[in-house]
Amino acid sequence: MLLATPGRMPTKTTSRHGAPALARKTAAKKSAAKKSAAKKTAGEKTAAKKAMAKKTVAKKAVAKKVVAKKVVAKKSPALAEYNRKRDFSRTKEPAGTVPKTRGKALHFVIQKHAASHLHYDFRLELDGVMKSWAVPKGPSYDPAVRRLAMEVEDHPISYNTFEGTIPEGEYGGGTVMLWDRGTYEAEDGGGAESLRRGYARGDLKITMHGERLRGGWVLVRMNRPGRPQWLLIKHRDETADPDLDITGEEETSVVTRRTMEQIAGGNRVWHSNR
Ligand code: MN
Repeated sequence: MLLATPGRMPTKTTSRHGAPALARKTAAKKSAAKKSAAKKTAGEKTAAKKAMAKKTVAKKAVAKKVVAKKVVAKKSPALAEYNRKRDFSRTKEPAGTVPKTRGKALHFVIQKHAASHLHYDFRLELDGVMKSWAVPKGPSYDPAVRRLAMEVEDHPISYNTFEGTIPEGEYGGGTVMLWDRGTYEAEDGGGAESLRRGYARGDLKITMHGERLRGGWVLVRMNRPGRPQWLLIKHRDETADPDLDITGEEETSVVTRRTMEQIAGGNRVWHSNR
């Protein structure tokens, strides 16, 4: 049958997105198409086929709109504070959504952020979001040094690839550099459950597998009123090095190798020669 192909396409679309209303409409259209096809001559069939093709295009557009709505709907609960603070019509930062499927390895990212005060945003993936701390002086490889880490709102995992400039006047306005990234795990090998317990207890011992941060580190929560303040401390292990000034030595993006100035200037050249 000539009309079989245009009739089948919307069915595929609806089954993929599982929208019951669309499926019903498709079934109704299919039976209507069958009835009219029986009466038509060959010439009429060609015209009918063209009309159906137009309808298929329109239906595809409808299906796309349904998908877009779903993404917006998923935006809220776990990242409500993150979304509330940002105007996504003004900033290029990603909207806060929690992905359904996640890999086994947990990722971390550290973003150097030249906001009103320069700091390093230390983010650890846990339960579909990035637990986040603002570390004014950045991490230190010296186990004798304790770096203040102010806990901030959870960020979306999609933030892990964000590098660019947040417009002046917007929340966190300033340049953001991807300073380090990689995977991390609970130091005791206890997986996500151990991380959850450590976070709740305020004693989060982790092993980092980044390009610039490696080995054992701990985040210890201080008992102070207000927004939780933690200390980021390097463990005394084989990667510890009191003489290594990591934030002083590494001043470019771990991904694009750009300096803060180049990111601010919108220079998208990728220097892969280091
Ligand atoms: Mn920040």
